Amino acid sequence: MRKEQNKIGLVAGPCSAETRVQMLETARALKHIGIKTIRAGLWKPRSRFGSFEGVGSCGLVWLNEVQQELGLKVMTEVALPSHVEETMKAGIDMVWIGARTTVNPFMMNELAESLRGCNIPVWVKNPVCPDIELWVGAVERLLHAGLKDIRIIHRGFCAIDHLPYRNVPLWEQAEHFRTRLPDMPFYCDPSHIAGKRELLLSVCEKALSLHVDGLFIESHCCPQKALSDASQQLTPDALAELLNLLNVPIEK
Ligand code: PEP
Ligand code: MN
Repeated sequence: MRKEQNKIGLVAGPCSAETRVQMLETARALKHIGIKTIRAGLWKPRSRFGSFEGVGSCGLVWLNEVQQELGLKVMTEVALPSHVEETMKAGIDMVWIGARTTVNPFMMNELAESLRGCNIPVWVKNPVCPDIELWVGAVERLLHAGLKDIRIIHRGFCAIDHLPYRNVPLWEQAEHFRTRLPDMPFYCDPSHIAGKRELLLSVCEKALSLHVDGLFIESHCCPQKALSDASQQLTPDALAELLNLLNVPIEK
């Protein structure tokens, strides 16, 4: 667990990779404010049929450009073994497993198997429902497949009574989970907890007061035009301001 005086880690980037220009412009601006690891979803698990479901494999080359031209690390979400295969072939640096996947033990088994032998960091979000055992179980399946670098992301939980959040943080349950796997880096995703820019500061402050190891946060060069999660994404400049307000040493 993070010692109070240590720097916090930071991953930032758009909810979705949408176009080459959007991806490179966002990554360039994030590099400018000191970010070293960029997140971007290619295969998007959307609730409603017919909404934007990501650009898919064609975005891998944009992530490769971010790696090669900007010297940044890149990560994307994998939800199927075919995603793992494609991201590994493309040399993507890290992957994350989303909240709609960690909820499903069968899919976690499949993913763990396809990740076996991949020597990359794998980040595991909490399941959408507040079931700590499912979260622990998802991590155990990856450990059983021999994965060595597993990191955790708390992104809040679905609840009927969720306001003002998009996903209720249930800080106590998340802290309880953390005690079950105390040696794994534990990040907070304030974007999917908050659901709106105005709440990000208070969610980040709370997460930092609990000494999370880092933040996993959405940033888009033009949030109001984002094809997914428009209301929670920050411009890179606004992210820099937020980090300034948080006033903690950031390991960027
Ligand atoms: C995301 O990170 O954009 C995402 C889809 O997250 P989650 O799985 O937390 O909903
Ligand atoms: Mn998102």
